[in-house]
Amino acid sequence: MANFETVEVSTDLLIIGGGMSACGAAVEAAYWAKKHGLKVTLVDKAAMDRSGAVAMGLSAINLYIGQAAGDNTVEDYVRYVRQDLMGITREDLVYSIARHVDSTVHLFEKWGLPIWKDENGKYVHEGRWQIMINGESYKIIVAEAAKNALNALGPDNIYERVFIVEPLMDGDRCVGAVGFSVRENKFYVFKAKAVLVGMGGAVHVFRPRSTGEGLGRSWYPPFNTGSSAYFTLKAGAEMTCQEVRFIPVRFKDAYGPVGAWFLLFKSVATNALGEDYMKTHPDVLEQYAPYGLTKPIPANLRNHLGLIDERAGKGPIYMRTEEAIQRLAQEMPDEKQRKKKLKELEAEAWEDFLDMTISQALLWAATNTFPEEKPSEIAACEPYFIGSHSGASGAWVSGPEDIAPAEYQWGYTNMSTVKGLFCAGDASGASSHKFSSGSFTEGRIAAKSAIRFIVENNEEPKVDAAQIEELKARILKPLDTFEQYKGMTTDPDVNPNYIRPKQFMFRLQKIMDEYAGGVSKSFTTNKYLLERGLELLAMLKEDSEKLAAESLHELMRCWENVHRMWQAEAHIRSVLFREETRWPGYYIRADFPNLDEENWKCFVNCRWDRNTGQWEVFKRPVISIID
Ligand code: FAD
Repeated sequence: MANFETVEVSTDLLIIGGGMSACGAAVEAAYWAKKHGLKVTLVDKAAMDRSGAVAMGLSAINLYIGQAAGDNTVEDYVRYVRQDLMGITREDLVYSIARHVDSTVHLFEKWGLPIWKDENGKYVHEGRWQIMINGESYKIIVAEAAKNALNALGPDNIYERVFIVEPLMDGDRCVGAVGFSVRENKFYVFKAKAVLVGMGGAVHVFRPRSTGEGLGRSWYPPFNTGSSAYFTLKAGAEMTCQEVRFIPVRFKDAYGPVGAWFLLFKSVATNALGEDYMKTHPDVLEQYAPYGLTKPIPANLRNHLGLIDERAGKGPIYMRTEEAIQRLAQEMPDEKQRKKKLKELEAEAWEDFLDMTISQALLWAATNTFPEEKPSEIAACEPYFIGSHSGASGAWVSGPEDIAPAEYQWGYTNMSTVKGLFCAGDASGASSHKFSSGSFTEGRIAAKSAIRFIVENNEEPKVDAAQIEELKARILKPLDTFEQYKGMTTDPDVNPNYIRPKQFMFRLQKIMDEYAGGVSKSFTTNKYLLERGLELLAMLKEDSEKLAAESLHELMRCWENVHRMWQAEAHIRSVLFREETRWPGYYIRADFPNLDEENWKCFVNCRWDRNTGQWEVFKRPVISIID
């Protein structure tokens, strides 16, 4: 620790993360900051060009309303999100993002993102809300705009490859963050008048399907590790929907996207016997009325129907790619055009993967898969925390002044319950289906609001030097632990005095998988399993003091796993509190297998008390603003 330089950076707004929401925040904040002579600083643990969930690129922008063309209304979108989340959503937040999202997409296009157009110059839709893009370089294009905006504001506003660990507090106000460089022996202290969290969701909290030689392969690339949840919890913020994990169904083993197949190619998925599981379980859909009886059927219920067949021994589940391609080709009037169409569809199918999940194209090639000839297996992935997608976990943030009901409005838009701490994207909860465009939009909304907060509360942060020294010692401790004990055994992996981050992660994942309803338990849990899981997590937490790091890279791995562990605890506590099964297909509470609208049509929120170290879990009302 002795040779670690402490670097202090003072700024007005600190944006943490360099993903979609943070890039949106940077572009917007730079505009307003210039007017007020303020400084904006962004810090990302990776390189912005390829950081976060969009790192590999995407093949579709999943949220575009098309308001100007009259394609859809913002109200329609709110209804869609509410239905998909089985009634539990902050309609004010969803509304606010949806009303601004089209302008974000138009900016992306202006910056050079190729969006598919039809012969009339209209965007090509994948589904009602999704538009097709050539998105291999999506993140680079968006990051370039964010970097240009911050660089225009002044020098040294961007810090890449700096991993943020903890919030800095001045009483009950968040006034910055601390972390370390993953390349140099530098400990960073960022002091700010407001902080905007955009560190994404969490992957590898649960044991993944891909273990052993496939370790690291997941639907959600493992860049985001619960840092948003940890940071906001540690600052004392109220959190919401921590029980709402997301389990996507994707092409098996390489996790390739299914959206283009279901929506663009109108493909059907069946069990191994060729039965369409969406049609063979009307009784189950009835059981989850009204949501099961309203179209579109929520994603979790669609998962649930497939899983019922799998549990009944009717797997594998297949995407009938060959049927979809042949059917679309047959729609052409003559043989020549049929052949041409077939070639086009094949190209689109492969490009869909090459745009965002290259490994799926490799797996298809390696397994001699011709999608026009034979079906491909799909499967439910392991659970993820991604509040901007079809999950909902994140901080409880204040709603927009003009539409939020009083219960959802206590301060500046998108500010958490902690003064000066703003959240966007996966970091802000109960506003699912933001996706890439909506996360960028929410970053813009939150940044504008944070700048207003700074202008109206322009006080210098007061940070106690002792707080910083204590944090520095604690954060760097795993390096000291390794140095101190590494010689005590011949194999540095096996040592009674410490635990390495990989082993720690395996232990966390085993607990979550077996007690909190992971893949091996077919996503099923109960009160007793959850309580036992909490006991084991408490012991894991004790052992986190013994984490050891051989290098800066491993130091990052140590803290990533501590962050995941806190996300895990918030999840177990919230699943335990909600005594019903609202999202079968994401998880089943075997002891409360039914939906209970009367008692549980509410948010489950939680908070960790910074002063007492105690957790509280409680209900908040669901208030509808759209009929
Ligand atoms: P991210 O964009 O993930 O950014 C998080 C940022 O935080 C990254 O820069 C990361 O490096 C940084 N970070 C994390 N931890 C730390 C730390 N401790 N310190 C400093 N920095 C940190 N949307 C669509 O519109 N269309 C799609 O087809 C689509 N497909 C998707 C497929 C997958 C597999 C996934 C995972 C998401 C998909 N999405 C899609 C959703 C979209 O990617 C997300 O909604 C969006 O990226 C969320 O933005 P964010 O800023 O919250 O997080």
